[in-house]
Amino acid sequence: MYKKIYRNMCFISMATLVLAIVLIISACYSYFDNRFKTEISAEAAISAAFINSGENPVEILQKTDTGDRRFTLIDKDGTVLYDSASDNPDNHSSRPEVIKAMKDGIGIAERYSATESKKLYYYALRLDNGSVLRISANPEIMPSMFYSILISVLFISALIYLLSAIVSMCLTENIVKPIKKIDPFDEESFESVYEEIQPFLKRIAKQNAEISRQIDKVKEQKARLQAIMDNINEGLIIIDTNCDVLTINNPALRILRAEVKYVQFKGFRQLTDSESVLSAADKALRGEKNNIIYEAGNRTYQIFCSPVTENGIISGAVLLLFDVTERTESEKIRREFTANVSHELKTPLTTIHGYAQIIDSGIAKPDDIIGFVKKIEKESSRLMALVNDIIELSHLDENKGDTPKQNISLMPLVTEVTDTLAPKADERNVTISVTGEDTTIYANLPQITEMVYNLIDNAIKYNKPSGSVTVKISPKKLEISDTGIGIPEKYFERIFERFFRVDKSHSKTVNGTGLGLSIVKHIAKVNDAELKVKSTPGKGSTFTVIFK
Ligand code: ADP
Repeated sequence: MYKKIYRNMCFISMATLVLAIVLIISACYSYFDNRFKTEISAEAAISAAFINSGENPVEILQKTDTGDRRFTLIDKDGTVLYDSASDNPDNHSSRPEVIKAMKDGIGIAERYSATESKKLYYYALRLDNGSVLRISANPEIMPSMFYSILISVLFISALIYLLSAIVSMCLTENIVKPIKKIDPFDEESFESVYEEIQPFLKRIAKQNAEISRQIDKVKEQKARLQAIMDNINEGLIIIDTNCDVLTINNPALRILRAEVKYVQFKGFRQLTDSESVLSAADKALRGEKNNIIYEAGNRTYQIFCSPVTENGIISGAVLLLFDVTERTESEKIRREFTANVSHELKTPLTTIHGYAQIIDSGIAKPDDIIGFVKKIEKESSRLMALVNDIIELSHLDENKGDTPKQNISLMPLVTEVTDTLAPKADERNVTISVTGEDTTIYANLPQITEMVYNLIDNAIKYNKPSGSVTVKISPKKLEISDTGIGIPEKYFERIFERFFRVDKSHSKTVNGTGLGLSIVKHIAKVNDAELKVKSTPGKGSTFTVIFK
């Protein structure tokens, strides 16, 4: 604005100056032209007066001649009586100014003179005796006079222009100064500015206020949306057709292990280098809905990629990232469980079927039949134990979170279980002792009974002859220690897996299904209890249950 006003002012100054110069020059030119012609006519009149009074014309003309004029005296028939510029002039009767002077008394002409080889102004005057006096001069003498003043005019003009430029600068500064002080957000600052633009400024201020209100609203909505997106468990990414990230929530960043600062304003390709994720996103951008399994860390995710279309044109893609670790794990466990169940059931069934066939065929000796029947009974009780454990596990699986609870005194419960297991302990020459004070827990009675039974049963089963089992009860805590074979540390986790047994060969001599501890773990989980194991191979193990 400043520049525009300044430039316009300079232009106006320059235009005014040029116009003034042109007018001055043309006025000067016409003044000098008039003066030149008046001087010639006056000189002619004075010389004519002298000649008419009877003076010798040639003498008069020679006296008058100052050198920059040409004097010619022409007789009535055109014969040149005197010419200051030529000694041998031709007849002048055909010269237009001479013809005119002879006719009207005065004749004026302007033309190129062959005698003087330049342009001349001719002024002819008829004398009393009928002859003609002609004075001619070169009009270009006049511009040389004129040029001498032109240089001064131009110098003065340049000076004026310089001054006007400085004045324009000051004026522009003055005009712009109040506008510079305007603060579009402060209506008070409008008071100091020109009245004419105040309504306009007020309208802008109103619009500014409206715009900032809208921006705040949009920011608030965006923050709210981001907060919602960050608080959902699933990852969400929205990309545009250039594969640039438009929106991403924290779970998605966590899943792809990307830092926010690296993501902002960057492309999706910088977010992950997983080929499968990138090609899934590409497919979605090509309009193909797809989903992939993506593994990161110890977790498994399922990513659903869908194209986003606007009026039938793909404008981006949405990627939803679900954590499916638990689902995948439980599917895997279920598959393994089914395979293990079939295997574990097959062994005793095959044995039972084999002995039954031998007895049925009649080839067995009567003395052996008793032994066979005992084996059938042993295998079938193993089978029953297995089926019971499987039923118990599936029961626990089904009733997740739906376990009726009550206050339970641990001391009487433990005493009851140890009483039940006393014959088994005696059989193996293992002593059981219960120590500590009674404590009350809030849990499911049959399940806790089952848990205590399994742990004490294991402590007896995996003990050494003449070994001992100690059950210690303390507030909200139950410790079952034995002096048995112990468990290597690397199996501390695995013993809680379904069908896992530490030493398969040894386990064959000990009745067991490999499901006892997985039932214990499950029961601990549904009753909010913590389960810990400590063991030293060859020395014994301690299983601790801490109730909340
Ligand atoms: P099992 O029916 O074989 O006893 P569990 O699930 O109860 O199955 O136990 C899994 C395995 O953990 C057992 O086979 C055994 O190897 C080991 N184990 C469990 N309790 C003890 C213990 N008190 N001492 C030594 N080993 C044990």
